[in-house]
Amino acid sequence: MKALDELTFDNRFARLGDTFSAHVLPEPIDNPRLVVASPAAMALLDLDPAVAETPVFAELFSGHKLWAEAEPRAMVYSGHQFGGYTPQLGDGRGLLLGEVYNEAGEHWDLHLKGAGQTPFSRMGDGRAVLRSSIREFLASEALHALNIPTTRALCVIGSDTPVWREKQERAAMVLRLAHSHIRFGHFEYFYYTKKPEQQAELGEHVLAMHFPECLEQPEPYLAMFREIVERNAEMIAKWQAYGFCHGVMNTDNMSILGITFDFGPFAFLDDFDAHFICNHSDHEGRYSFSNQVPIGQWNLSALAQALTPFISVDALRETLGLYLPLYQAHYLDLMRRRLGLTTAEEDDQKLLEQLLQLMQNSGVDYTLFFRRLGDESAELAVARLRDDFIDIKGFDAWAELYVARVAREGEVDQAQRRERMHAVNPLYILRNYLAQNAIDAAESGDYSEVRRLHAVLSNPFDEQAGMGSYAERPPEWGKHLEISCSS
Ligand code: AMP
Ligand code: MG
Repeated sequence: MKALDELTFDNRFARLGDTFSAHVLPEPIDNPRLVVASPAAMALLDLDPAVAETPVFAELFSGHKLWAEAEPRAMVYSGHQFGGYTPQLGDGRGLLLGEVYNEAGEHWDLHLKGAGQTPFSRMGDGRAVLRSSIREFLASEALHALNIPTTRALCVIGSDTPVWREKQERAAMVLRLAHSHIRFGHFEYFYYTKKPEQQAELGEHVLAMHFPECLEQPEPYLAMFREIVERNAEMIAKWQAYGFCHGVMNTDNMSILGITFDFGPFAFLDDFDAHFICNHSDHEGRYSFSNQVPIGQWNLSALAQALTPFISVDALRETLGLYLPLYQAHYLDLMRRRLGLTTAEEDDQKLLEQLLQLMQNSGVDYTLFFRRLGDESAELAVARLRDDFIDIKGFDAWAELYVARVAREGEVDQAQRRERMHAVNPLYILRNYLAQNAIDAAESGDYSEVRRLHAVLSNPFDEQAGMGSYAERPPEWGKHLEISCSS
């Protein structure tokens, strides 16, 4: 375990120099205080969870104090936003404080979001509000607990500093951890500004730091692109399998590491709805739940375009062609497990599609359905679940196929089936209304609900005593929350 002043820095990105990022100091906030910290994320830096409660912790993670070796930088990038190219974005309110390496030798970027204005703030105030910081914190740690690749969140620090959104709110900061904060948009920036030397420098950095095994390949850039395609296909398969809707899949929000990145108006599905749009500002549904799959490919094509100086168009095309089949394979594999199937049959995809259509038509709770399916034997579970469906005849027909399909797997030990299914079917997910309850309490100064919710979501697969209310479907008010891009 380390004390806060014992972190070891190695600021490799900062050393790339001023073409890639600008030196900026954080602008402190008034009366910084701990809202919530993640002991699991602190462990990544070898920090004792107890130090979160010390005053110096809030001072460090609100930019009041800096480690002597920290080199805060705002990174430059660009990206395609809702399909259109924006030539310059960059860290408008977040700073890479530095790269820390832990005792296991892993490097972690310390990124402070909401740290004030930078040369890339455009018209923005450089701040993040408490509401959005809590949402990012809860979502990153919840996704991680579901085994979905994501940036991590160390803590949220609240303050008295007023900020204006639709109404007056309070500024907060979230400390984000990732092995890298490099986005598709970093490569796009140097490609479209026609800076091939700097683009190559960025490429060499990314290869050496994050894809060293690709350097052994005959075409390192191609091997790296393939790896990025593979990782994104897997990440998006997991989003779809668990009902996660990102909301703003712009290329500046896509990580080269294939991790879930930049949380805005995200949501987990309550009722299953393939056409669900979680971002209230996304009028055309570009980033609707089911569109995430083709948008993943669209974003990878945008990255491919930016990599044309390094890789032939034919090779890029061929590699892009791997995305959909890889996605399908990961998705189906995970959904088979969610259905409790241990073998593969030709018609499994059809069985799944039929179920999702029935769930869609009846507005069945996506998470609870799968959880309950594993509670009992296939026969008993479907008999209990059928009441949730409006089209009972349709469900019965599906249930008959499902029970027969499970029977073809041979003798099933019920206790084992339950354990196996519960290990992939969470009981608790970050429902929008749960986040909203925690935010409402935090905005009036009570942080206990955020902390409790975070603790529950850190163990989503294990039933926790006294936490039954966190597994419930949303109340009526909680079904229609409108979450916009404002943050
Ligand atoms: P986001 O929607 O958070 O992914 O941000 C898109 C771009 O807008 C990024 O370049 C952000 O840094 C920038 N941005 C978002 N909010 C603010 C803000 N309040 N102040 C300055 N820049 C911002
Ligand atoms: Mg962003």
